Amino acid sequence: MLITLETHVRVPAKINLHLAVGPLRDDRYHEITTIFHTVSLFDDVTVVTTDENGRLGHPAGARHSRVRLSHNAGPEVPGDGSNLMVRAATALIAHVGYTAVPDSLAVGEQEDWPLLDLGVCKQIPVAAGMAGGSADAAGTLLALNRHWDLHLSLDTLASIGATLGADVPFCLYGGTALGTGTGSDVVPVATRSVFHFVAGTSNLSLATPAVYAAFDQLPPPQPHPVDEVLQAVTAGDVARLAEAMSNDLEPAAIALRPEIAHQLKAMERAGALRAMVSGSGPTILGLAEDAGHAQTIAQECAPLFKSTHVISSTLSGPYWPNQL
Ligand code: ATP
Repeated sequence: MLITLETHVRVPAKINLHLAVGPLRDDRYHEITTIFHTVSLFDDVTVVTTDENGRLGHPAGARHSRVRLSHNAGPEVPGDGSNLMVRAATALIAHVGYTAVPDSLAVGEQEDWPLLDLGVCKQIPVAAGMAGGSADAAGTLLALNRHWDLHLSLDTLASIGATLGADVPFCLYGGTALGTGTGSDVVPVATRSVFHFVAGTSNLSLATPAVYAAFDQLPPPQPHPVDEVLQAVTAGDVARLAEAMSNDLEPAAIALRPEIAHQLKAMERAGALRAMVSGSGPTILGLAEDAGHAQTIAQECAPLFKSTHVISSTLSGPYWPNQL
């Protein structure tokens, strides 16, 4: 008898309330100090295995897997072995001592290996500076850990995640956290404060490496103390957060796409307490007083953006929607 097992996890997008970028290191990465914060835009990640012998596709039963991915996004999201979800699954399977190959690369006897089916229903805007791919990779690690009862700790998943991308460890934990190093060294910040934002996405293409390269050409930024943001967040003080929020990559994003300066001004004219580029852009974040205020700003700004989203802090990270 064939038995199908499905595990489903919902993963939030992240924004950076503070992003201070240091000089280029010898390994070509920048040292950063950031405050990560998860917000209410979600991708739904599923893993599915079908098994004849009751091992439910456990790698101890299969030993070898073919990893296949389906998603609801356009061609800008790869469906092959370069997708961060497929890379996360193969890295996890290698960590526990078994072998996996992306289905698109399977040859010869690999074509008969049992299938591990990954799926993602994306709502997090793609290539928007909101860590959609990293959130999906984190969701894949969490879902497989549960699907196969691997009992790996979050810290172990984070060390696997760090090999995939600097934002993946934070995406495993969610909530609010201080990130240092390349962003992959994460310390949670205890807070129950909820803030409200508008996220305005655009069609301007801005690859993260290009933004960092532009940053290197500009004069070094003025230092912005991270403590101010931490205090504003823990106090739940929206006016103080509006003063303290900063993103060192914003001038570089504007240098590459001058339209961003216009969008920032428009968001503030519409009433945002503060408008700022999200991560490496091109998404613009507007900080609002409350949810109603965010709705008003979003309506006013809508003509300027590809899409506008009214979002708020999620307080926690990925969760298991089947169990609510
Ligand atoms: P980053 O800031 O990490 O560069 P981002 O948050 O701006 O990324 P993502 O939505 O993660 O944006 O997409 C960046 C690129 O990563 C996409 O253009 C796509 O080619 C690739 N990618 C790989 N896996 C995924 C995934 N699961 N979802 C979205 N994009 C993915």
